[in-house]
Amino acid sequence: METSTPSYSPTERTQVKRRSQRGVYDKAQVHAILDEGFICHVGFVLDGQPYVIPTAYARLDEQIYIHGSPASRLMKGKEVDVCLTVTLVDGLVLARSAFHTSINYRSVVVLGQARVVTDPEEKERALVAMVDRFFPDRTAGLRQSTAQEIKATSVIAMEIEQASAKIRAKGVADDEEDYDLPVYAERIPVRTVLGAPEPCPRLRDGVERPASLRGYAEGRLLEEALREAYFLRYPGG
Ligand SMILES: Cc1cc2nc3c(=O)[nH]c(=O)nc-3n(C[C@H](O)[C@H](O)[C@H](O)COP(=O)(O)OP(=O)(O)OC[C@H]3O[C@@H](n4cnc5c(N)ncnc54)[C@H](O)[C@@H]3O)c2cc1C
Repeated sequence: METSTPSYSPTERTQVKRRSQRGVYDKAQVHAILDEGFICHVGFVLDGQPYVIPTAYARLDEQIYIHGSPASRLMKGKEVDVCLTVTLVDGLVLARSAFHTSINYRSVVVLGQARVVTDPEEKERALVAMVDRFFPDRTAGLRQSTAQEIKATSVIAMEIEQASAKIRAKGVADDEEDYDLPVYAERIPVRTVLGAPEPCPRLRDGVERPASLRGYAEGRLLEEALREAYFLRYPGG
């Protein structure tokens, strides 16, 4: 379900300053980057100390969910201001100068307040999303989580209050006078490609790989598989 405005208005905090033409606030593009990634870095300050923690996440509409141990620092906070970033690397760009040597990327910075999810229904929805966003409808066929497992897992929700994306998607961009230099230059695309699945050696006889996993095929791009899985499970985005 898309929310009413198609764009996150840039704020004083989310206005991209350096190379501002690379800044993007369109919700669809911000969501696409979030849905093609699966590792975020969550930054927050506790007792004056900044922490930046890498973790998995799932987006449902305008909420981003992460889960973990109730003992972790972030889970202990009540409502904490957080900055969450996701980065997808698309290429290495070798220019004729160090200054223009670059990386092609799509990244998102989200600012908002993190809260511990206490509503049991929202918690269940989030825990399902943490699996099903990767593997559509997989939770429906899994052993049910026990009350103890659910209790041992804290879920944090963060509403996307302010967000920006930044995208570099081009080749070598040297200073005009440098193109005549006898220096080699190129763009190297970077892709994360899936390997061949390795079935668990302890599978019971007759247990086949579900058809819903066919998107995770050897040689496929991870981001494509993730995007497809997300939209199969959450068609409204
Ligand atoms: C893989 C990678 C490599 C990079 N390498 C360099 C580098 O070597 N040198 C360099 O100067 N920059 C690099 N950047 C860009 C860097 O992330 C910042 O955009 C840059 O430091 C300047 O940000 P700013 O001037 O907008 O100022 P800031 O004050 O840092 O940011 C202002 C606001 O702009 C938005 N913003 C800034 N950067 C991003 C972003 N990347 N994605 C989404 N929103 C953003 C945020 O909302 C932020 O609050 C790299 C980015 C990536 C993803």
